[in-house]
Amino acid sequence: MTNADTQEQAAAGAVIIPVTPFQQNCLLLWCNATRRAVVVDPGGDVPNILDAIKQANVTVDQIWITHGHIDHVGGAAELRDALKVKIEGPHLDDKYLLDHVAESGIQFGMTGGRNFTPDRWLSEGDRVSIGQLSFSVYHCPGHSPGSVVFFNDGMRFAIVGDVLFNGSVGRTDLPGGSHGALIKSIKTKLLPLGDDVGFVCGHGPGSTIGHERATNPFLVG
Ligand SMILES: [Zn+2]
Ligand SMILES: [Zn+2]
Repeated sequence: MTNADTQEQAAAGAVIIPVTPFQQNCLLLWCNATRRAVVVDPGGDVPNILDAIKQANVTVDQIWITHGHIDHVGGAAELRDALKVKIEGPHLDDKYLLDHVAESGIQFGMTGGRNFTPDRWLSEGDRVSIGQLSFSVYHCPGHSPGSVVFFNDGMRFAIVGDVLFNGSVGRTDLPGGSHGALIKSIKTKLLPLGDDVGFVCGHGPGSTIGHERATNPFLVG
């Protein structure tokens, strides 16, 4: 292992908290130098998220949202109020979802969901940061119109929400979905990030861009 590897591994820490009946991968990610953290996609089960923050012994500064589906945003307003932090993302094109969090939650038997407006809508090329870690924002419509992906170049690491999965891609049968747009987003924005890039996705195990490029049935051919 080289020095550079050691430094990269020490730059960040992370823990995944599966939340909601959809087992959504809520991500607690922190900068090791500053112990400042972000919660990505607090879909629900907020007490479990608060427990994880306490165990990691980090200070959460922000909440980032990849897209507006209930399993990713159902706990956002509650967590924002509990921690008194700001919400960044998703893209404005998912506003229609954030305006209906409460009723969407009821449909799926999830209580406590509240509509909210993020403190900052994100667009292609924006940057978000936590402690000393900086991520660039890619607008990747298809699964939902306002889906965004977060990418940290130095760590070769991406947070892709429900755009791309290990062995699959996001569903596009929900209102606002487009399979053509989704595949275009993946091929023009995610695959060019590089085969060595690892990612965490919204459900199930993560993967690498290279593995998906070579084996994902939706991308091969
Ligand atoms: Zn989704
Ligand atoms: Zn999801």
